[in-house]
Amino acid sequence: PKPLATRVAFVTGAASGIGKAIATRLAAEGACVVVADLDLEKAQAAAAELGSTDVAVGLAANVADEAAVQAALAEAVLAFGGVDIVVNNAGLSLSKSLFDTTEADWDLQHDVMAKGSFLVAKNAARILVDQKLGGDIVYISSKNSVFAGPNNIAYSATKADQAHQVRLLAAELGEHGIKVNGINPDGVVRGSGIFASGWGANRAKTYGIEEQDLGKFYAQRTLLKREVLPEHVANAVYALCTSDFSHTTGLHVPVDAGVAQA
Ligand code: NAD
Repeated sequence: PKPLATRVAFVTGAASGIGKAIATRLAAEGACVVVADLDLEKAQAAAAELGSTDVAVGLAANVADEAAVQAALAEAVLAFGGVDIVVNNAGLSLSKSLFDTTEADWDLQHDVMAKGSFLVAKNAARILVDQKLGGDIVYISSKNSVFAGPNNIAYSATKADQAHQVRLLAAELGEHGIKVNGINPDGVVRGSGIFASGWGANRAKTYGIEEQDLGKFYAQRTLLKREVLPEHVANAVYALCTSDFSHTTGLHVPVDAGVAQA
């Protein structure tokens, strides 16, 4: 791949949490970054933290709306001349039990993560293929795409959908030199906006602990006894986009400090 300092990254949901950490890492490596998120002001504020509009722009894009996705990608091309790295990170977690999950909950989770990531990947891939320069598409999926846990059925189903999108796109786009990989984080509590979305409260209730103790609780469950931070997910995205991983596609990388499988 082209050196990172000459590449343009389009990161969805990058106004907060893991997406923001990814945008920050790629910008620090010299890439131009498009921060795409639901709220224009939040996206622009996050982009401004990365540098001037010569290197980072914030755009409003609801990933579940194809016209909005296409408009944001067109703006990205206008701003930076192309797109080389696409990170499907936008998401939310309702964290509800089977019987609490409504049809509307199911639709919202799937609209944003299953459909939204497909719309971003499809429309971005069109640009990458036409550029004939290869590229990287990275999905921020989840440990939940593989492992089952309580109170997360709609969320986990969309993450499994994303995981299979990774394999299918890797197969379809490989001949164009486009790598498609996924990352499966788990337990990224601090630095993410998940508390505001109600995720933290619901999870804490599930485990019978206080919300502020979630980070420590997750760390204790890991093999490494370490808390996973947004920066650790960003490190993995960066690594996948370097030439060190030039021959890796269709892979899912866990960033979870190790999950006991017994
Ligand atoms: P977060 O709530 O901090 O960030 C999510 C961002 O996505 C927000 O800025 C939000 O505005 C944006 N977003 C939501 N819906 C959108 C839409 N329709 N269009 C565009 N942007 C939208 O959460 P986070 O923890 O940083 O999660 C980021 C990604 O990582 C999600 O896909 C999540 O499922 C995944 N993930 C998180 C964890 C974790 O432990 N935090 C674990 C595994 C996977």
